[in-house]
Amino acid sequence: MRMTKERQPAMRTLRGWAISVLQEAGAIRECEEHGWMQARADPHAQERALVIARQDPPSGVSPEAAVAEVRDVLDSLGDTCPECLPA
Ligand SMILES: [Zn+2]
Repeated sequence: MRMTKERQPAMRTLRGWAISVLQEAGAIRECEEHGWMQARADPHAQERALVIARQDPPSGVSPEAAVAEVRDVLDSLGDTCPECLPA
């Protein structure tokens, strides 16, 4: 059992952090049926997420790297759930 003073709750990776920021901003959501993350076509929510990343990056991560990761997650996600699509 290790205790650290770092303020890093459940997110151990930068990717996990970026996803949580995007969820918080409402820029992505999870398919209720399949659990896939989907980007929402909401430029304002995406902008909010980028602002959060810039202003409040995880400890030890530069704002630039945090913003880059959030953008990368957005780029990697489709706007639909792959399993919801007709085969
Ligand atoms: Zn789905």
